[in-house]
Amino acid sequence: MTVEIAGLTAKFQTNYGRAPIGFVRAPGRVSLMGGAVDYNEGFVLPMAIERETVAAFAPRKDRLINLSSRQAEEHEASFALDDEIAPGEPTWANYCKGVAAGLRSRGTRLVGMDILFDTSLPLGGGLSSSAALEVATALAMLRASGETMEDYELARLCQKAEHEFANSPCGIMDQTICIMGQKGHALLLDCRDGSVKHVPFDDLSVVVLVADTQVRHSIAEGGYASRRAQCFSAAKKLGVKALRDADEEMLDAAARDGVLADIELMRARHVVPEIRRTVDAAGALAARDYTRFGKVMLTSHASLRDNYETSCDELDSVVELACSCEGAYGARVSGGGFGGCVVILADAGKAEAISQTIASGFFRKFGRPCPIFPTRAAPGAAVLD
Ligand code: ADP
Ligand code: MG
Repeated sequence: MTVEIAGLTAKFQTNYGRAPIGFVRAPGRVSLMGGAVDYNEGFVLPMAIERETVAAFAPRKDRLINLSSRQAEEHEASFALDDEIAPGEPTWANYCKGVAAGLRSRGTRLVGMDILFDTSLPLGGGLSSSAALEVATALAMLRASGETMEDYELARLCQKAEHEFANSPCGIMDQTICIMGQKGHALLLDCRDGSVKHVPFDDLSVVVLVADTQVRHSIAEGGYASRRAQCFSAAKKLGVKALRDADEEMLDAAARDGVLADIELMRARHVVPEIRRTVDAAGALAARDYTRFGKVMLTSHASLRDNYETSCDELDSVVELACSCEGAYGARVSGGGFGGCVVILADAGKAEAISQTIASGFFRKFGRPCPIFPTRAAPGAAVLD
């Protein structure tokens, strides 16, 4: 499901009294493998999805940036490019302000503009609407000012905007896949040096299902920050730069010698094998070995549930329901956890039946719907012609 451009154009006309001169799109993503690994400098395997954020824009003669969103209709924002740019209200616009501040400080000649956003992504659902918002903002601003930027630098700039303006200490995965995703490919990203490998995933006999528990999280909340801190402290005590540099023998020795607090050991028992599993999963995907890939997904989910403790009843139930279906290879939480979406690898021919089984089982248990949509690997962000 993509954003409807005609409706966006009409709304732009209503908000700003003129037509937009351009559009950019930025996709959401699922995390196929690699949970809680990005900030530990390991490997992650995300894929851009067919749901996306679109920005309609038009430059202005003055130095104002006006922002509005169809997801925040009563909360428009405005700031001047020549004043200090600081976070404030409405909070959704802070992602965009952070991008403008970052572009300005690297010397990009920004121009005043009106921007209207719309998205087919759920907000706060673990499909990375925040990175899509940042990247769409950046592409619109670069386009309007006639400048370009290298992908990796752009990803860093958007991540910094989220850290500094939205108070959300996210890793580099979301922005990278949003910018660098390729149609028919997942992306194996080394979060240590930012290097990427596009992994072919264009087999039409399988499809990715995304099931939204509609349990909402915010990674600016405590659970994410505390796990991050536990991982950093575990790495420090193990004498390594990041948990990327630890192995399972080191963890066994640390367990024997009592080097780590119990909670740190538990977190490391997730992260260290998860990094290896993610590389393994990329190999399985490229080899079209979906049975192996699905097993790795399930191991990852169980470890996020038991060692990392970032799952919840709704997520676990969707994974269990998926496992009960013929034609479902595996499932795991996609994103920061504590709610949001489950990603399921399914036989294309069975996807409809699997979706129905999950939706009705979820409704029986929780008394509310669990929206599910199929997607394949979509391209990264771009200016629309
Ligand atoms: P996720 O990235 O998983 O969707 P986050 O909590 O990181 O969840 O980001 C969600 C936040 O991003 C929303 O609460 C909102 O502030 C902002 N946001 C994202 N997309 C939009 C949009 N189209 N319009 C307004 N705000 C948006
Ligand atoms: Mg986000």
